[in-house]
Formats: sequence, C-alpha cells, structure tokens
Amino acid sequence: MDCIFCKIANHEIDSEKVYEDDEVIAFNDLDPQAPVHVLIIPKEHISSTNELTLENKDIVGKIFMIASKIASDRSLDKGYRIVNNCGEDGGQTVEHLHFHLLGGRNMKWPPG
Ligand code: 5GP
Ligand code: ZN
Repeated sequence: MDCIFCKIANHEIDSEKVYEDDEVIAFNDLDPQAPVHVLIIPKEHISSTNELTLENKDIVGKIFMIASKIASDRSLDKGYRIVNNCGEDGGQTVEHLHFHLLGGRNMKWPPG
C-alpha cells in the first residue's frame, strides 16, 4: 500500500520523531501551522475516523494521552488544540488516521 504515514511509521521515510512506542508514532508536521505542530498516528493503517471499530478504537484514547504528554513536555501550559480532519470536507489530505497537536499560539474559533 502506498501510504506515506505507513512509510513514516515503518521508518522507510524520515521524519522528525517526537515520540514512539510499539503502537504509536508522533512527528513534526512538514508544514507547521503553529510553533508546535506534531502529528500523532497509530502505526496500524486506519484510513480515517470512519474506519474506527470496537476492535481498534482504544488507540484513540492512547493517542490523546500521548498528545497531553507531548504538550506538557513542550510547556504548552496555556493550552493547545487537537485536530482530526476526516474526509474531503474535513480537509483530510492523508488517508491514514492522524491527530494534529497544535500549540504555542492562540487558536481561533471557529476554524476556517
Ligand atoms: P490532513 O490535512 O490530512 O489533516 O493533514 C496531513 C498533514 O500531513 C499536513 O499538515 C501535512 O503538512 C502533513 N504531511 C504530509 N506529508 C508529510 C510528510 O511526508 N511528512 C510530514 N512530517 N508531514 C507530512
Ligand atoms: Zn497508512
């Protein structure tokens, strides 16, 4: 399968790694939208939020805990945002489930 995030998870493509364990990898976004912009992904290929099931759902909770840990490590004491884009209208461009951790500046709401 030609999935760029699977290749990053398998270390076939370089990334600026922030965190890794047997199930999850986190790395800096290539095109950062904030001073801290980390992508956190399951190593398992899950195409999007729409492919979550009772079998694989627990990885999402784990990813949120890792996001909180990274935010703490980066001293995002004033807060941060976790974003999941799903599908065309959601702005998803890479079809491998991922969560953006954004911080280091004030986030606007609603997003554009
Ligand atoms: P999406 O728009 O699907 O929610 O987010 C995909 C993100 O992946 C974008 O923010 C984009 O900058 C990032 N991205 C795409 N290709 C690569 C890559 O090869 N390496 C890294 N580090 N980030 C990537
Ligand atoms: Zn993948």
